[in-house]
Amino acid sequence: MNNPLLDTVTNNNIDTLIDPRTLQTRISELAKEITIDYHNKELLLVCILRGGVVFLTDLMRQIPTPHLIDFMAVSSYTDGRTKSEGRVRITMDLLTDIEHMNVLLVEDIVDTGYTLRQVLELLKSRSPRSLRVCTLLDKHERREVEVYIDYVGFQIPDKFVVGYGLDDEHGHWRNLPYIGVART
Ligand code: 5GP
Repeated sequence: MNNPLLDTVTNNNIDTLIDPRTLQTRISELAKEITIDYHNKELLLVCILRGGVVFLTDLMRQIPTPHLIDFMAVSSYTDGRTKSEGRVRITMDLLTDIEHMNVLLVEDIVDTGYTLRQVLELLKSRSPRSLRVCTLLDKHERREVEVYIDYVGFQIPDKFVVGYGLDDEHGHWRNLPYIGVART
């Protein structure tokens, strides 16, 4: 069967930036830190759809203590990728009432920081007991607004990455088991 997506993979058009083993090793380190930090505290992991879902499911399976999960989705008023202009819209809200909960926001990537800042402001307004951030990837050199991140998986260079939950402009590549950079 002719599958252009598979052809691209076979042609090696995606360079590996972070391989599956390195990802899993780091995720297990993050999970250990989180497990210790939230010892005896009720923890709610909040995942931002859709990019964060692969990271969340691997991360939560490395946290042995009981915890809850919930999801929200946001979209940018602009194109949301290369130049978020700072305004995001909640397209799917949490089901959980987070008042008095220890919330850990699980993000795939922080780029300019606008999305994270807005989501944090929204969650803060709901009076959680605590609110922290865990991101798999941090493109720190692209930051336009200061946001504090408690747990960072990897600092990465200013390149557009795909895989492990992250897609391209066609919604492809989320299923790659590694973080890659498309060759141009
Ligand atoms: P922000 O600029 O607001 O920090 O990032 C907003 C969103 O842009 C991220 O949550 C992510 O969806 C998207 N984004 C930023 N950089 C990349 C990238 O390198 N690859 C992909 N697939 N999405 C990105």
